[in-house]
Amino acid sequence: MIQSLLIANRGEIACRIIRTARAMGIRTVAVYSDADAKALHVRQADEAVHIGASPARESYLVGEKIIAAAKATGAAAIHPGYGFLSENAEFAKAVIDAGIVWVGPKPDSIRAMGLKDAAKARMIAAGVPVTPGYLGEDQAPERLAAEAAAIGYPVLVKAVAGGGGKGMRRVDDPADFADALASCQREAASSFGNTDVLIEKYILSPRHIEVQVFGDTHGNVVHLFERDCSLQRRHQKVIEEAPAPGMDPDTREAICAAAVRAARAVDYVGAGTIEFIADASDGLRADRIWFMEMNTRLQVEHPVTEEITGVDLVEWQLRVASGEALPKRQDELSINGWAMEARLYAEDPASGFLPSIGVLQHFSLRTMRVETGVGAGDEISPFYDPMIAKLVVHAPCRGDAISDLQGACSTADVWPVKTNAGFLARLLDRVEFRDGMIDTGFIAAHQEALIEKPMLSAEAADAAYNILVGPQRDCMPLFRSGFRLNAASQTEVILAVDGAPRRFDVSEPFSPLADYGARAFQGRDSLVKFDSGYAYRVELYHPRGTATGTAADGAILSPMPGRIIAVDVAAGDTVTKGQKLVTLEAMKMEHSLTAPFDGTIAEVNAEIGGQVQEGVVLVRLDTGA
Ligand code: ADP
Ligand code: ADP
Ligand code: MG
Repeated sequence: MIQSLLIANRGEIACRIIRTARAMGIRTVAVYSDADAKALHVRQADEAVHIGASPARESYLVGEKIIAAAKATGAAAIHPGYGFLSENAEFAKAVIDAGIVWVGPKPDSIRAMGLKDAAKARMIAAGVPVTPGYLGEDQAPERLAAEAAAIGYPVLVKAVAGGGGKGMRRVDDPADFADALASCQREAASSFGNTDVLIEKYILSPRHIEVQVFGDTHGNVVHLFERDCSLQRRHQKVIEEAPAPGMDPDTREAICAAAVRAARAVDYVGAGTIEFIADASDGLRADRIWFMEMNTRLQVEHPVTEEITGVDLVEWQLRVASGEALPKRQDELSINGWAMEARLYAEDPASGFLPSIGVLQHFSLRTMRVETGVGAGDEISPFYDPMIAKLVVHAPCRGDAISDLQGACSTADVWPVKTNAGFLARLLDRVEFRDGMIDTGFIAAHQEALIEKPMLSAEAADAAYNILVGPQRDCMPLFRSGFRLNAASQTEVILAVDGAPRRFDVSEPFSPLADYGARAFQGRDSLVKFDSGYAYRVELYHPRGTATGTAADGAILSPMPGRIIAVDVAAGDTVTKGQKLVTLEAMKMEHSLTAPFDGTIAEVNAEIGGQVQEGVVLVRLDTGA
């Protein structure tokens, strides 16, 4: 067994690999860029080596620096994680040539599967069904257009070197083909430095089904069943599960066998994934599932397979890389229960899924299994992938797994970085998803209804209000109205939620029913209340310019346009802190303005029945000092 391991990656996957390596007694070496100097993977590893500036091109993608770091620290092996250099055959070869163990497949296997067209050709030869399409070398636009017509629209134009959902264009109408091709080639040139494309039949009702395979150096290859990764946004996986809903044993047997054939065809060693596309218009059927591509590495969503099989895939990787045989035979592997994973992204669904960066002042995840590369206080930098955590659940059945994951997303409390947690929680609530009616268009079809941030719930508003007024009960906030609803303990108040005023019925402070303190965070200038995967900034509402409760300032301003319905004091009166001064009616509510401190009334500028504008000084109070 290898004694030391350098992890050529960052974020959650680096932390994931370190965890298993440590459990196996293997010394771990992290590498890091400028931006990651204090990152969690650096803190967790036994040693860490700085490899360059923040952009991945200058650090995590520079093979020579990583190999030099391994040599400098005496690391016996290199694990590439996913992304970055993990599917770079030249890097794998350079590692091996440097006398270091490569935790991954042979460079030739990576190469064979690296380009989508060559991989498909190879799969056809191995008897694996592939998506119908054109794989030819002739890349003349006229030829490609003719092939597209022969395949039949809709078609998908794919960069042969593509990955991460990039370099793909669906074309429905022959008239759009030339433009789509040109734009696909432009993206392929800038992202992958290779303009070659292939053309595929666009599968309707598509479901992404993939099979985890594992090979060793003794000629064994097994599969660890399938995952369903159909919930995607822009061809990027968002929620993954295992097993696949609606998969019958015969279909499973057929595609898993095809996956093992595919792996054997490239002499595969280590962890790999065979991705298939299924036409699910009539359920999952073996004759409607086709090979799409192979990912020659550990996959982002590997934890769902670990949960249903009880296998630690990273441990298997390290054992296989050390020359051991696979720890289990095929007949010793089985599916236990249902697992589901959600990718938590630092992004704001409400603003077009814009990535969100910044320091995680609050970061609290309550899930049975969390894979993350950050902790509270860490910074989300703009340099890398916006995925900040994976929430993983395992339950006896799919319904329970969905409920658990929904709960996990609803209680993912993050501030001030925005996340897709609330969006995911609502997505998981869709009855169609619960019914297993999924395909890769599911998110796009439901997105419109789910991207708006919902209003703070009544319960959360109640809790927020009680937290806000709790500690300062003596200096009652200006806008507790005296208006009472049927329930004796209810009060109507205005809270500024994310800066905008809203009316809420809340319970009296310290109602034994309210869950104060729970799932809230006192930010720098306001309370942050977490609710169903969203974070809300909540303040007692007072319009700009209103000075309330500050002992130095006795100007009591009108909080909003309204009508004066009570004036309880006159100039010269002495009042005590909290005493009611003037009552205003606005937005169908009464707002009693109270004395922010003990003092003497210097001036009253309000008459019963009078209309007042926002920001008008209604009462002036002197400290009397
Ligand atoms: P997978 O196929 O493992 O599920 P995806 O298809 O979602 O991964 O993403 C494809 C590629 O996008 C990955 O191989 C990787 O290059 C990149 N990627 C995705 N997530 C991350 C991440 N958190 N960090 C770095 N790269 C990532
Ligand atoms: P990448 O290398 O970017 O992961 P893939 O070939 O794996 O590219 O495709 C990514 C996603 O695009 C798939 O998960 C699927 O949602 C969609 N897709 C790919 N090929 C097809 C197809 N022929 N028909 C319909 N959807 C497809
Ligand atoms: Mg893929």
